[in-house]
Amino acid sequence: MSLKTDVLIIGSGIAGLFAALKVSEYADVILVTKKNKAESNTNYAQGGIASVIDPNDSFEKHVEDTLIAGAGLCDREAVESMVKEGPDRIKDLIDIGTMFTRKGNEFDLAKEGGHSMSRILHAKDLTGQEIERALIHSVEQKVNIKIFENAIAIDLLTEHNIPGKLKSLNENMNCWGAYILDTSKNEVVKIIAKATILATGGLGQVYLHTTNPLIATGDGFAMAYRAGVEIGNMEFIQFHPTSFYSTKSRSEYDGHSFLISEAVRGFGGLLRTKDGGLFMHNYDARKELAPRDIVARAIDNELKKRGEDFVYLDLTHKNSQEIIDHFPNIYQTCLINNIDITKEFIPVVPAAHYACGGIVVDLNGQSSLTGLYASGEVTMTGVHGANRLASNSLLEALVYAYRCSNSIKEFLKYSEILIPELLDWDDSGVLTYDERVLITHSINEVKQTMWDYVGIVRSNIRLERAERRIHNIFRETEDLYKKTNVFQEILELRNIVTCSHTIIKSAKLRKESRGLHYTIDYPNTLPSEKIQNTILKNKNI
Ligand SMILES: Cc1cc2nc3c(=O)[nH]c(=O)nc-3n(C[C@H](O)[C@H](O)[C@H](O)COP(=O)(O)OP(=O)(O)OC[C@H]3O[C@@H](n4cnc5c(N)ncnc54)[C@H](O)[C@@H]3O)c2cc1C
Repeated sequence: MSLKTDVLIIGSGIAGLFAALKVSEYADVILVTKKNKAESNTNYAQGGIASVIDPNDSFEKHVEDTLIAGAGLCDREAVESMVKEGPDRIKDLIDIGTMFTRKGNEFDLAKEGGHSMSRILHAKDLTGQEIERALIHSVEQKVNIKIFENAIAIDLLTEHNIPGKLKSLNENMNCWGAYILDTSKNEVVKIIAKATILATGGLGQVYLHTTNPLIATGDGFAMAYRAGVEIGNMEFIQFHPTSFYSTKSRSEYDGHSFLISEAVRGFGGLLRTKDGGLFMHNYDARKELAPRDIVARAIDNELKKRGEDFVYLDLTHKNSQEIIDHFPNIYQTCLINNIDITKEFIPVVPAAHYACGGIVVDLNGQSSLTGLYASGEVTMTGVHGANRLASNSLLEALVYAYRCSNSIKEFLKYSEILIPELLDWDDSGVLTYDERVLITHSINEVKQTMWDYVGIVRSNIRLERAERRIHNIFRETEDLYKKTNVFQEILELRNIVTCSHTIIKSAKLRKESRGLHYTIDYPNTLPSEKIQNTILKNKNI
């Protein structure tokens, strides 16, 4: 089956939905999303979205905080333009009905780690859910946006898919849509589009412990890499220092750990070892408000030093009613797990949280392929550098979704877009795979390998070991993929393997410790004149 549209958008988080809304003002959109439309990282965002709203705050301060967190690798122009555009895009969200929490007539602006001012707009501690609600409501009013749920993008349509050209080309230049698996019918649909936006979110599911939901298997990074699109800075994985530590099995948590928001530390939460001692003063003068990488490494160090599984986050010195008012969701979830956070310490551990690198895009969200745009967590815009400042990701996704829409408008208006004949999906002669247990084992092996060897603290030996393990799983997976018809688990395994490969490759290229990448073999940062982004381009397309 084949469908045609002006713009194909893959993903229904903040980036995909906001782009769809804007594109629908001038063109038809098909939006595909892997599960139901609300299931996204966006939906789980608690803390909020950063922007300069307070008259005492300034663009310069927000820029400065972002650059400091980014540890020398941010693109200043990308940071400055995002920060300056922030208030307008926040207004767009408010205009479509997003209800941010207020204190009287003013927005209740929170302060988070690494921010010098209170500038985080939030909807209590369910900010992402509120943004997602407002966006879905608006998108559903638009007759020219068609949403397909349970539709998994498999691969991009490029020169590689022109009949007869398969062997002769080793470089793609254009993107004309994607192959999509409709899981409700078990059918692969070819969606041909003049422009495509990848808004597929993060890759936390590459790791054993993650705050990301099950959809976050890095599909967009992997599809782009397979198509020969430039991707960069994949080594910079942010580990959130405080996810709820539970003795329950992972399946009881639907495959991801519950996040105890940054805002809890901003609110005055204190980190304590199991014996009750404070420790952050030993690591950074900002103590609990130091950026996430420093806090995550400090916790990792305390856990390894003491042979313990978790540390505590303590709010018991704060007013009980204020705790419940600020963090109703965290309060309730912990209560379900038998912890009353107004009276008891919360057990926490670090977990993979955010990918700072991704598809290299310019200030307009344009990738290295004509017709392929990207926005949100799947991108490397230059905004985050080697470490993301808290609550800048929702803002970045919003700003770049808007820009993707603007640049596609120009692209459709001024470019002659000739779409060649493209191959239909061909699964003749393949088998139906009935040994899913092998896939599950491989997924678990990748996650464990990445957690053990490519986690918060890295080394040459660990990276080499991880590379060998991942390469074996890659060969087995590709072999299976070629012989069987496609289904969700094999597609996701393929994608987490590809993402792992790119993270390891980038980590090996970086011969220094910087931001989120810390290796015991190169513990120092290189001088500023030697700082570089790690850009990867797959030559074996
Ligand atoms: C627990 C948690 C808390 C967070 N808190 C904050 C915060 O307070 N502030 C902040 O700024 N950031 C926060 N973040 C990060 C932020 O939420 C994400 O970076 C942001 O929401 C990413 O938006 P996105 O639109 O790029 O991707 P997502 O919101 O993840 O959406 C991706 C979409 O793509 C779909 N998709 C994926 N693969 C495919 C495929 N192959 N085919 C079809 N569809 C596909 C998914 O189903 C989903 O709809 C948090 C993240 C988590 C996990």
